[in-house]
Amino acid sequence: MEQKDLDYFKELLTQWRDELLGRAGDTVEGLIASEDHLSDPLDRAVLDTERGYTFRMRARESVLIKKINASLQDIEDGDYGICDDCGRGISIERLRARPVARRCIRCKTKQEDRERLFGTG
Ligand SMILES: [Zn+2]
Repeated sequence: MEQKDLDYFKELLTQWRDELLGRAGDTVEGLIASEDHLSDPLDRAVLDTERGYTFRMRARESVLIKKINASLQDIEDGDYGICDDCGRGISIERLRARPVARRCIRCKTKQEDRERLFGTG
């Protein structure tokens, strides 16, 4: 991969992570701020449902942030865009669509076939 492509993905991943981290911060403050005004049990139930949803969202986000960090580390190490399984280059098109991809499309497809067959993740 050329240096300009690495710079492009580094920028993209860094911005994406900042966006996720920024939003996560807002959510926590929002939850704390809304807590005080609620005495009605129904409102509380609604809040708890929303909070469950928010926490699930944040759990997904934190998984994504870990993947972004791993990809940024790969860029530093010179391993970015190389398939974990077969060691071949992952296409730029695939990385543009999914910058945190760690497998080329062939290995990804094979992995998904295995997951379908054996039900493992
Ligand atoms: Zn591969």
